[in-house]
Amino acid sequence: MSTETTSAPNFIRNQVREEIETGKVAKIVTRFPPEPNGFLHIGHAKSICLNFGLAEKFGGECHLRFDDTNPAKEEQAYIDAIKEDVTWLGFEWAGKVRFASDYFEQLYAWAQHLIREDKAYVDDLTPDEIREYRGTLTEPGKPSPYRDRSADENLDLLERMRRGEFAEGEKVLRAKIDMASPNINLRDPILYRIRHARHHQTGDAWKIYPSYDFTHGQSDAIEGVTHSICTLEFEDHRPLYEWFLANLPVPATPRQIEFARLNLDYTLTSKRKLKLLVDNGIVDGWDDPRMPTISGMRRRGYTPASLRKFCEMIGVTRADGGLVEMAMLTHAIRSDLEDNAPRAMCVLKPLKVVLTNVDEDHEEVYEVPGHPARDDMPVRKVPFTRELWIDSDDFMEEPPKKFFRLAPGKEVRLRNSYVIRCDEVIKNDSGDIEELRCSVDFDTLGKNPEGRKVKGVIHWVSASHGVPMEVRLYDNLFMVEQPDRDKDADFLDHLNPESLSVCQAIGEPSLADAAAESRFQFERVGYFCADRYASQAGKLVFNRTVGLKDSWAKIKKKG
Ligand code: ATP
Ligand code: MG
Repeated sequence: MSTETTSAPNFIRNQVREEIETGKVAKIVTRFPPEPNGFLHIGHAKSICLNFGLAEKFGGECHLRFDDTNPAKEEQAYIDAIKEDVTWLGFEWAGKVRFASDYFEQLYAWAQHLIREDKAYVDDLTPDEIREYRGTLTEPGKPSPYRDRSADENLDLLERMRRGEFAEGEKVLRAKIDMASPNINLRDPILYRIRHARHHQTGDAWKIYPSYDFTHGQSDAIEGVTHSICTLEFEDHRPLYEWFLANLPVPATPRQIEFARLNLDYTLTSKRKLKLLVDNGIVDGWDDPRMPTISGMRRRGYTPASLRKFCEMIGVTRADGGLVEMAMLTHAIRSDLEDNAPRAMCVLKPLKVVLTNVDEDHEEVYEVPGHPARDDMPVRKVPFTRELWIDSDDFMEEPPKKFFRLAPGKEVRLRNSYVIRCDEVIKNDSGDIEELRCSVDFDTLGKNPEGRKVKGVIHWVSASHGVPMEVRLYDNLFMVEQPDRDKDADFLDHLNPESLSVCQAIGEPSLADAAAESRFQFERVGYFCADRYASQAGKLVFNRTVGLKDSWAKIKKKG
């Protein structure tokens, strides 16, 4: 049976608990703030579970806010997919869906406020010059010659930038902070860029767009977010966010807490790289079952509960750079399905068996539990007839010593049924095995034959009642643990050419009307899920979610 969930430490949850207990915070407000420039991946699931989980646990609220400051890369389709993923994971955002673009007017007014306070200016340097003037980690930057424009001139230029009077790249608005700061983020960061792009929410209203840095913290402040939880790469941006909060008349001061991103082995957690797989046709869309996207894992057969359990198992720390094992993720889904997926027999690589001592019209039907430990699941009716399919991997013409399945002259038990013996192997002209002739020992239903040891049990399906189906077997998309470890190398070099193989399989009749997204354990084979889009009665398509072998549980036991 399944292994207990072990929750790993979550330092943010501990911190919030203490704040609530000591009355430092009355009600927490968190948010999940994706940029709608791709589908969400398993890394985002960690952030979702953390932010929504905290609100759930401590009676607060969590917002869903799209940080939509880069219209060139964003799309409505991504917004829709992200909403669907969050809902599917079982979370509910407080209030309406929010957009940073809802705050564009306010942000603009705050930019004007900074100008009036002599804390922002319009700069005419080119992007290359700005980079050059910025300095390096070891050398200070130098001030732009446009840094000392008057407030009136700056206000006028900003207004004209907004109206579209200048070309892209011609001007930017920058904060006036400190060109010599050891933190490069404080060297007059860009607040607004000119972009003559149509925005999915605001249409053509704006010709300038605020930078992510100028938007993110203030959006949190506007929404009354108490804990701005983000990943570690924003740690160095925190002084800048605090500068904005200190220099603007914001209604609240959110506190930023950083945690380590999730990295998972044998896959990627970067929208940009995942988009490359989609754009190059390497996978069949963002929700290809091999993708580490939430929608891909859903199609693959993962349950919301399993992803939430996984996020609980990995915990939340500030220790960066670790790689979580895929085996831990598959353990989470396997233990869920072990307990909750009904059983069925399905033969992936069918080999015909003719039972020579069974009549043509003979039929018996076994009533088999839907699940060995769950009497709430319907009983399956499994018909037994003269002609059956077994898996060709369960037969060997010249078996090694420890092969306990079927071989010429050997016996094996058909699961839930009789012991059979292989009497003859029928081959075609080219020498391929076409069918096996076997005989049934009718004295063996539910018991082992007297005086004989029959070790092997194999699965099978009645040839006259079995339902044909397509079964897609998925493997890791990449052959190496960390496909993008070497920054200069092309991660596409590490693609696994065998990440997908397709079988024409035959399943027991109880599968005939399997609903899309229903999940099963195909006995002795693995866990499978009816494809959300492709599968329907009469044309079943199953995706392999995971195999039966749990390497994570084994590792845990040893360790
Ligand atoms: P990517 O690099 O894949 O584009 P991102 O961080 O740019 O990811 P956002 O849309 O900005 O994507 O992310 C929304 C939220 O999810 C952010 O708060 C971000 O910190 C968090 N997040 C993104 N990737 C991970 C990850 N691998 N582990 C944990 N949290 C993540
Ligand atoms: Mg991002």
